[in-house]
Amino acid sequence: MTLYTVQHHFDLTHLNTMGFSVSAANYVPITSDEVLSAWLMAHDTIKSRSDCFVLGGGSNLVLTRDITGTVLHLQQRGVTVVDENDTHIIVSVAAGEVWHDWVMQSVENGWMGLENLALIPGSVGASPVQNIGAYGVEVKDVLESVKAWDRQAQTWVVLKHDECQFTYRDSVFKQPWLEVDGHPQSRYIITEVRFKLLKDASLWQPKISYGDVAAKLKEMLAGEPITAVDVANAIIAIRRSKLPDPKTLGNAGSFFKNPVIDLKQLEQLKLQYPNIPNYPQTEHLVKVAAGWLIEQSGFKGLRDGAVGVYDKQALVLVHHGGGTGLQLMALARRIQEAVFLKFNIKISSEPIVY
Ligand SMILES: Cc1cc2nc3c(=O)[nH]c(=O)nc-3n(C[C@H](O)[C@H](O)[C@H](O)COP(=O)(O)OP(=O)(O)OC[C@H]3O[C@@H](n4cnc5c(N)ncnc54)[C@H](O)[C@@H]3O)c2cc1C
Repeated sequence: MTLYTVQHHFDLTHLNTMGFSVSAANYVPITSDEVLSAWLMAHDTIKSRSDCFVLGGGSNLVLTRDITGTVLHLQQRGVTVVDENDTHIIVSVAAGEVWHDWVMQSVENGWMGLENLALIPGSVGASPVQNIGAYGVEVKDVLESVKAWDRQAQTWVVLKHDECQFTYRDSVFKQPWLEVDGHPQSRYIITEVRFKLLKDASLWQPKISYGDVAAKLKEMLAGEPITAVDVANAIIAIRRSKLPDPKTLGNAGSFFKNPVIDLKQLEQLKLQYPNIPNYPQTEHLVKVAAGWLIEQSGFKGLRDGAVGVYDKQALVLVHHGGGTGLQLMALARRIQEAVFLKFNIKISSEPIVY
């Protein structure tokens, strides 16, 4: 008896937060590492590769067509304490756990470090892929290691923090590997992530200088001492007021990465746009707010048929229903061209496009 089940012509409309109506030729729910191993042993060997697509919560995807290969939908559950001392705790979390639920579980247990990453949609397994980040924190700041199936070596591996090659919205897990039937494949299938979190509240330094977090906490707490739960709740409130809920309006969060430009170019731009929001990265490089560039190019709130730009945040592209990923990508290209024409800055997209 095989451990796994395969469903054919499987509808993915409700498994991608953009809400694009596409299907998968084959769909396999992965409920344990054993199920994953069984499917891979049967279908993905060095001699005979399968075209497979690893799916988590579908919140960082633009699906422009049906998936012709096999969707492996990671659904493993489990949160296990593996080690602790007086100050820190190491917790192993299965890939299929919902990211936000894990964040809230951690802060409610008195473990600190993930509070700024509350309400990011998606799965724990995908969190290292683009090194998710928000409000001045990235997952790399608290990640200890990643367990994954390495399709190249055909074995289980544990990648320590430094081996994950984390940078801004990037990691080793995003690097191109081989293609099967013209589709890029993920080399690593992540099944577990280990986090190193702080237990000792006396060592905790809340990171609240980013955006409106400090002001929101002031409004919520009226001078009481701040806890990690408070920071998470403040960030949840801010995010709810700024970002569309995918349950009511299809989206994949920030659609474009903030571009990094040369300081000299910034100085030139400042002559014409003195208020251009920018964040120094190194002595010579500076990050510019992509949302501002898009807004200045006249796209905020624009609607183009079934797709558009969110009216409260120009960085977010939205799907109003009945549209396609191709329509969204056409709008994305229009925005990129307009921003380049106006500012001579290239903005690149953040979600994975299939
Ligand atoms: C409203 C909204 C707000 C958002 N805010 C933020 C934010 O603040 N910061 C941020 O960084 N992101 C944000 N995102 C983007 C998204 O939530 C994250 O990138 C998230 O980590 C994606 O997780 P997922 O499980 O949905 O991944 P999916 O969309 O399912 O997959 C994304 C990519 O990761 C790969 N992948 C997924 N799981 C695995 C696995 N187990 N092993 C190997 N590869 C895998 C997939 O193949 C795909 O290439 C937001 C999205 C939305 C809709």
